Amino acid sequence: MHQGRRWIVPAARALVLALALVPVAGAAAAQDCALRDFLTMPLPGAGGDAVVVALEAAYPGLRADAGAGTITTPQGATVPLAPARDLEGAARLEGATVGDMFAQTYPPGYDLTARSVPWADPGRARNDALFRALYGDSARAVRAALVRVTYAGPGAQAAFDVTTRQCVATQLRAALEEAAALSPPPDDWFRDTGGSFNWRVIAGTDRLSAHSFGAAIDLNTGLGGYWRWSGATEGAAGPFQSTLPPALLAVFERRGFIWGGKWHHFDGMHFEYRPELILHARLTAGAGAPPQP
Ligand SMILES: [Zn+2]
Repeated sequence: MHQGRRWIVPAARALVLALALVPVAGAAAAQDCALRDFLTMPLPGAGGDAVVVALEAAYPGLRADAGAGTITTPQGATVPLAPARDLEGAARLEGATVGDMFAQTYPPGYDLTARSVPWADPGRARNDALFRALYGDSARAVRAALVRVTYAGPGAQAAFDVTTRQCVATQLRAALEEAAALSPPPDDWFRDTGGSFNWRVIAGTDRLSAHSFGAAIDLNTGLGGYWRWSGATEGAAGPFQSTLPPALLAVFERRGFIWGGKWHHFDGMHFEYRPELILHARLTAGAGAPPQP
């Protein structure tokens, strides 16, 4: 959820910007951003620490050491790799460790049943130090790596400012190209979009939003659905139904974006780059074995 700037690109400009990355400011360090499909990419077989494997496979150049309890980012910063705490509910979200990020499994596919359990919010726990190390420690630092990525469907255009760091822009560009090519095209979801980069805290909290790091976008704010706007109570967000096309969800998940519509505290417009959660779900479901020779 995000109530910031909107980017409705005029048609003429969209022709120029369509499917292109336009640098906004600065340049990110070189990183191997070969396009990846997180739903099908081969993963190591059993034996490794699933959190370590998921993090290293999700972020090219990242190194995680469970024994030493450290993560070294592709940019060389080191942050603690601490296990999940024995906490539940709202307490898990406050000061979340890296381990807490994986304490709930993000359910792959179009399945909204898991969210019926109060506080089943896989992805809402974010380790602040890791996000700052991956994407930037200030609005200025994050802004320096932003680019504009566009959706150019037959009946709607939209643009989002996201970070080039950790290959977010590369993956989002592919997702938006694939989304625009769906039949029927999900143009409705790309009208009245909620925005993208915005250095801010989550409503009602003092925690930084994923939007602060240029790693989240909001689609149509009216179609999306958001628990705070529904009048729901925290911890009892109630039922949620969505008209999001399953094919659109699949496009985003393939490219590493999780959907807030699966959260008990639903945020049905919100997509956030969390490939580590998609890979971790595959690894812990036993689906991570490499193809047999
Ligand atoms: Zn959002």
